[in-house]
Amino acid sequence: MKKNILLIATGGTIASSLTVDGLSPGISSDELLSFVPEVREICNVDTMQLLNIDSTNIQPEYWVLMVEEIEKQYEKYDGFIITHGTDTLSYTASALSYLIQNPNKPIIITGSQKPIDAEFTDAKKNLTDSFRFASEGNIRGVFIVFDGKAILGTRARKVKTKSYSAFESINFPVAALIDNNRIAKYIITEERRKKVKFYKKIFPSIFLLKLAPGMDPDVLDYIGEKYEAVVIESYGVGGVPFLEKRNFLEKLGRLTENGKIVVIATQVMLEGSDMTIYEVGIKALKKYKILQAYDMTIESVITKLMWIMADTKDFEKVKKKFYTSINDDIFI
Ligand code: ASP
Repeated sequence: MKKNILLIATGGTIASSLTVDGLSPGISSDELLSFVPEVREICNVDTMQLLNIDSTNIQPEYWVLMVEEIEKQYEKYDGFIITHGTDTLSYTASALSYLIQNPNKPIIITGSQKPIDAEFTDAKKNLTDSFRFASEGNIRGVFIVFDGKAILGTRARKVKTKSYSAFESINFPVAALIDNNRIAKYIITEERRKKVKFYKKIFPSIFLLKLAPGMDPDVLDYIGEKYEAVVIESYGVGGVPFLEKRNFLEKLGRLTENGKIVVIATQVMLEGSDMTIYEVGIKALKKYKILQAYDMTIESVITKLMWIMADTKDFEKVKKKFYTSINDDIFI
């Protein structure tokens, strides 16, 4: 029996055409589907247009719209495909991994580096692969399908601005390879024992600060006034500068004493943090209530905090949830 799949379009390059102001989304969900007519042989498809934006304009509240739409249609369809711009696609994939937990169905997010109506484009392959993967059966959870790879929603990151091979799986194996009709699955998600749960509250007040030598720690005063949590992209395995006039540690300590959540992550793309190795890490961990990202992607750190802090801002409760693995986002 053919599976029933809902295509939810949100814009991005895949749906863009050239305007006087540059590439801008305008192609509708129905038109997108008309470029890949062969998918009707694989599955039954309905389409809906949720947004039509460049994903640079994505807002955390739009993730809630996606959740609401999928919840509304959850029983009617066997799987969902969201077309999306690539620029913030991994944020959306991470966010949906927290906002839709234990789904027994595939939720696939895809896009492309070139518009679907371009002469040379990756859009048709990515869209067709997404339908194949979603129709496969035994695929559960949020994935990105791009350039022949299926990547877990919590592990994806855009690593190339122009090439077709734009996404990588960070600190975790690729879930599957998709090559025409052949799908090689490396990660098998078991049937969920718990019921699917949709979360529709999000707390966007999270600041991401990337450290660079010479930065003035006073910037944290402003961040502390405006935000409830700050994620610091520090260096290497993770540490906080404390020398001379640029004492970030003291400022971060003050933030934690004021009840703010501080997470130390790393600017290095692969292998994650371990703050127990160097003095610059241990000092921060020992003295203050600070969390570290371990092997999570920055996208997951931020969206996980947005999900957790919609429910609680209490450090111990945040810590417990933050270090609990959801959709294989963290391995401690
Ligand atoms: N700026 C586009 C977007 O993220 C890029 C793309 O889709 O590839 O919407």
